[in-house]
Amino acid sequence: MKAMVLKKICHLAENRLPLELVDLPLPSPQEKEILVKISACGVCHTELDEIEGRTPPPKLPIVLGHQIVGRIEKAGRKAHKFKVGERVGIAWIHSACGKCPFCRAGNENLCDQFAATGRDVNGGYAQYLTVPEDFAYEIPETFSDLEAAPLLCAGAIGYRSLRLTNLQNGENLGLIGFGASAHLVIQLARHKYPRSRVFVYARSGKERDFAKELGAYWAGDIGEPSPEKLNCAIDTTPAWRPIVEALTNLAPGGRLVVNAIRKEELDKEFLLELDYARHLWLEKEIKSVANVTRSDVGEFLSLAAKIPIRPEVQAFKLEEANTALLEIKERKTRGAKVLKID
Ligand SMILES: [Zn+2]
Ligand SMILES: [Zn+2]
Repeated sequence: MKAMVLKKICHLAENRLPLELVDLPLPSPQEKEILVKISACGVCHTELDEIEGRTPPPKLPIVLGHQIVGRIEKAGRKAHKFKVGERVGIAWIHSACGKCPFCRAGNENLCDQFAATGRDVNGGYAQYLTVPEDFAYEIPETFSDLEAAPLLCAGAIGYRSLRLTNLQNGENLGLIGFGASAHLVIQLARHKYPRSRVFVYARSGKERDFAKELGAYWAGDIGEPSPEKLNCAIDTTPAWRPIVEALTNLAPGGRLVVNAIRKEELDKEFLLELDYARHLWLEKEIKSVANVTRSDVGEFLSLAAKIPIRPEVQAFKLEEANTALLEIKERKTRGAKVLKID
């Protein structure tokens, strides 16, 4: 099978072609696994964190990609949950132990044996992959394969982030950064919290215009003071300055949720601007979002179909994965990027 693999950790500034097209043997499903023929795989900022070594894959080479849609080609001997030919989705959570206190309490995203698709095991930048059947999801019919792909991470983790904000209907929500995840979160927020105003902070004018098209009450540059204080905010940027700016804009008791698996180091000195009275006093909170659980993915997919959320996607061929990644690095985004695989 064809696959785009990462063989070596490197910086995109020095190597603009980090992934290499190779031919790999077809994987074979274990007893409780399914073999999926992939038709679409979303491209996520997390792939940059893997390539550049901020969350490095434990073994190389590896096939990246964790927003996967495809059809079941073959089922393992004890895998009976789906039928061959059925369409399924696969997300960042590849598996968790199922036994530890975190898993038992429904927090499998925090399990210390959490394994990630496309980092700890091969992912979706390929024609096929295997996955435990309990970690695959039915995809609602209303979505095409390409539309469904970004729902599996950008959407599901956006859903988790929004839940962790504890936003109440009528309260102000800030979205800092307006990429694949935020363009889905705004649609979700407008449905769930119709009386809330959404304020979007993005560097690019195109992203700000896009946010307004999707119903943002206000859109401005990162660093611009907010016209109103925010009760909650979600940061999806790879940088540090937005954290400080978001805390400035928070109302007393407000909460900032940071949806980024890793932050880059470039502007870290900005944190020295952090002033207790201005940024943290009056019970402001910061919370990170780690991974996703299966219930996040499942709940979000049904809700997304009901609303319905309309993901905006830009398609690339499997061989063009490096181009798609570079465009994310250079923030050339409108909606989500997806590899169309045949
Ligand atoms: Zn992702
Ligand atoms: Zn566990």
